[in-house]
Amino acid sequence: MKRANQMISCGAGAMFARTRPRARYAVTLGLMTMMAGCAAQSSKLDVADEADDSTMPAFRSSPSASASGTMPSGKGGGLASEELQRSEHVMAASTSDTGIYYHGGAVIPVVDIYYIFYGNWSPSQMATLTDFAQHIGDSPYFNINKTYPGVSGHAVLAGSTSYPTSMWGTSLNNGSIAGIVTFAINNGNLPYDANGVYFVLTDEGVAETDGFCSSWCGWHTWSHLNWFGGPDVRFAFVGNPARCPGVCIASANRSVSPNGDVGMDGMISSVAHELDEATTDPDLNAWYDNANPPNENADKCAWNFGATYAVANGSRANMRLGTRDYLIQENWVNVPGCGCALQYTGSCPPPPPPPPPPQCPASKPVCCETDDAGNCTVCIPRTQTCP
Ligand SMILES: [Zn+2]
Repeated sequence: MKRANQMISCGAGAMFARTRPRARYAVTLGLMTMMAGCAAQSSKLDVADEADDSTMPAFRSSPSASASGTMPSGKGGGLASEELQRSEHVMAASTSDTGIYYHGGAVIPVVDIYYIFYGNWSPSQMATLTDFAQHIGDSPYFNINKTYPGVSGHAVLAGSTSYPTSMWGTSLNNGSIAGIVTFAINNGNLPYDANGVYFVLTDEGVAETDGFCSSWCGWHTWSHLNWFGGPDVRFAFVGNPARCPGVCIASANRSVSPNGDVGMDGMISSVAHELDEATTDPDLNAWYDNANPPNENADKCAWNFGATYAVANGSRANMRLGTRDYLIQENWVNVPGCGCALQYTGSCPPPPPPPPPPQCPASKPVCCETDDAGNCTVCIPRTQTCP
């Protein structure tokens, strides 16, 4: 049974008070310094608090940033909220306008994914994330990004490395993440790659004190490698959300998940979010909408998962890539009338059927409950309130 009043209540939007600071990373590792003039901007994945919409942090930009601007913050790692809240965050598609706009910057035509596993990782955890990165490219899901001119839909896992927490400790900040990426390149553990997106992935025991698990679930940004004037490096942070399952993991999969590790499965949706954004807005000056603060493509669909199916262990998934099932958030199709989707194959999915017309008599015109076929089963006069 569906309650009619629930069917029409989905409209109150969760507030996402994203700020977009211009981050100035004061990297303390002596590896990289970003001077004020080459400040990085970042874009965060929204965090949602299922307990109270008003406390939901948005996909915020870097915490250290202070100035507001018109560019995406890049911090879109994403915290999970309840599905209803997630769907409330999703923008409506227009039939005359794609709802997201180009601002002149670069996209990444063919993406090289690099993983930096930081901390204590089991072989199976690394295998799960690795398998995802080996199958995301050219998938029906990632091909949504082909609707952004210049993006091919190709993406490969081009390399990975790992570092123990003995190197930089278990409490990192945004500057530490930039420093780790810089170290990986300068130390020769990963190549410099102009088409690369370098993900720093942290284990459950590692904190990111600039907002992970409180303001966002991940973020992406760019900077100049080393000193001012170095080549453009695009990088991202996604932490293990087992630290905060109520914040950064989809509610359906907080106790059991498709690949048997709720942290890894939660992480993968955030990695997909950051990868979608880093592909279409790597320098935070290409594709984003007119909201204030702006939303990049994945921001527009954060925590919206579309149709799901049951996995044998009782968890939920919405796509299969290779031999694994995943629950990954939708992405924004850059075609008028499309909006959020799990794939794009050249046409938008048909719009949902309109709600059934009211079937109550004139004397009792208010429909309180409907059956599965949409027929009113409880009708009351206007002078009463639904039970
Ligand atoms: Zn985002």
